[in-house]
Amino acid sequence: MSENLSYTDAYARETEATVVETDPDAHAVLLDRTVFYPGGGGQPADSGQLIGDSGGSWRVTGAKKRDDDIWHTIEEGSELPAVDAKVTAEIDWERRHRLMRTHTALHLLCGVVWRDHAASVTGGNMEPLTGRMDFEFETMSGELVGEIEKRVNEEIDADREIRVAILPREEAFAIPDLIRTKINLLPEGISQVRTIEIVGLDLQADGGTHVAHTGEIGRVKVTGYESKGRINKRIRIEVTD
Ligand SMILES: [Zn+2]
Repeated sequence: MSENLSYTDAYARETEATVVETDPDAHAVLLDRTVFYPGGGGQPADSGQLIGDSGGSWRVTGAKKRDDDIWHTIEEGSELPAVDAKVTAEIDWERRHRLMRTHTALHLLCGVVWRDHAASVTGGNMEPLTGRMDFEFETMSGELVGEIEKRVNEEIDADREIRVAILPREEAFAIPDLIRTKINLLPEGISQVRTIEIVGLDLQADGGTHVAHTGEIGRVKVTGYESKGRINKRIRIEVTD
């Protein structure tokens, strides 16, 4: 199992690591330790590079989880590093930080919509600085969307703290807020649950990367909304400086 620093410290940009295994078919590398987020929960995987201690560098175009391991996809056309090679694994920080801002903005959106309208989330997706969320939100309208945008930016101005915790399964399942975010869909075998709390607003079970304070997000603009049926509605956002 590879140690995943992004899980406990979203601000870790690089780490020393050793190549444990290579997969020529997938053109991928397994490290003993990494800062690469492997994608999931609507957040895309990181890109970046591996820099060899004794020369050479490899472009990492993505990362994927296989069981508990994180595999780094190496750009086609370059030879894979050797097993046991010492490298520095480094993510494209600017892109990742934009994803952290966007991801946290989506938490604000979902927290505000739940607090003010009791509408729950059914899904979401993001790219750096743009994202969308789907809600079970029958009463959503154009006027409401403007109001929601205003409330989300108020939460940014409040500069709320964001806390990461890793809880035993039983403890996490006893928190009512987590049950609404479909924690019950988590696989049976999981013994620990990672939670992301926007203090005073929102608490979710989540594996992604987030900023430490909401003020770091910048501004959020609602760029569109769509009806996906009588109940299901989609809200699109953009994050700016
Ligand atoms: Zn999240």
